[in-house]
Amino acid sequence: MSNHFTKKRFMMIALGLCASAALSGCGENRGGTPETAPAVRVISEITTEVTTEPTTLPPEEGLDYLVLVNRDNRLPENWETFLELEKAVTGAGADCQVETQTLKHFKKLQRHFQKKGVEIVLSSTYRSVQDQQAVLDDYTARRGAEFARKYVGIPGYSEHQTGLAVDVWLIKDGEWIATNEAMLQAEDLFGPIHEALADYGFILRYPKGKEAVTGYAYEPWHFRYVGEDAAKEIYEKDQTLEEYLADRNGGRVPGAPSVDYGSSDLYTKEEMDGAIIALKEQFMRTGGCRLTRIRYAGDDKCGEDALAQINASDAERAYTQCIAFLTDFYTDGTAAPPLEANTDYTDRLWRLARRGNGSWEIVTDGFDVDGER
Ligand SMILES: [Zn+2]
Repeated sequence: MSNHFTKKRFMMIALGLCASAALSGCGENRGGTPETAPAVRVISEITTEVTTEPTTLPPEEGLDYLVLVNRDNRLPENWETFLELEKAVTGAGADCQVETQTLKHFKKLQRHFQKKGVEIVLSSTYRSVQDQQAVLDDYTARRGAEFARKYVGIPGYSEHQTGLAVDVWLIKDGEWIATNEAMLQAEDLFGPIHEALADYGFILRYPKGKEAVTGYAYEPWHFRYVGEDAAKEIYEKDQTLEEYLADRNGGRVPGAPSVDYGSSDLYTKEEMDGAIIALKEQFMRTGGCRLTRIRYAGDDKCGEDALAQINASDAERAYTQCIAFLTDFYTDGTAAPPLEANTDYTDRLWRLARRGNGSWEIVTDGFDVDGER
């Protein structure tokens, strides 16, 4: 076992990370070369009242350290006017940037564990929306739109864009714990770090067992700075940022649409969640509109007849399953055709289909005003 970190070894680590993290919450930010199977991703099940206003307000007096950026909440538009970034260096020696307070507290966390013989080093930190857009554009040009949509994160919806999130690698006795697989197995090393995070104002953003709330698989390496008070409360109550903010928002997770799964003999909730993610991603990619309500359209719109109808209009595709949802959403002033600006849309029908266990594709676009209702 060598204590010397070689460039070649880093390249291997970096490539492995890019590949395995591309579809994780962090991967949205990295845009690496995704060749591995998608991480498990589920969405939150929200059955409370619909909120019709974005509740993640832009910061008015300085930076909002409790900002919520997830599949339902875009980075506030004027975020970067308040964001103060500081230069840092990743464990691999590359320049990176982190929000000032976040970096200050991260360094304290780092020093604390250094004394215990564990090095916590940065792997991925801040990335601007423009950087993310550039990655998406590059993938679109090289691999086509379908590939890009599937594997590259959508600009505006990654927590890394806040500057308050850091991904880490660990080094113990000269051994790098730097691939997602290795980090997922390093519970003995990550456990004490996770327990100490709140003392430094950080939370483990995507904890195990909270996948349905955060919308992301467990990521032991992704820490989010929220400030000490919030971090301690979140840790003590075994919450996520979503749950902490819901407590302060009348029980509703800010920005999350309500989901009505109805009753179905065809699909379980978990199966519906998979399709709902594809639907939500369509909203993420479409600027200027906010999803407020999702309802399962019913088994009669998802059975053999519906599938035959879809396959008849596109025989080549040979879909094996289809599902349909009705959505309510509204647009702001930036909505582009076919959507109208500042308009409420209700009961817009979306149909999705897939082949085998492949990914869900949208076959009826609910944004299309001439589409089926
Ligand atoms: Zn991350």
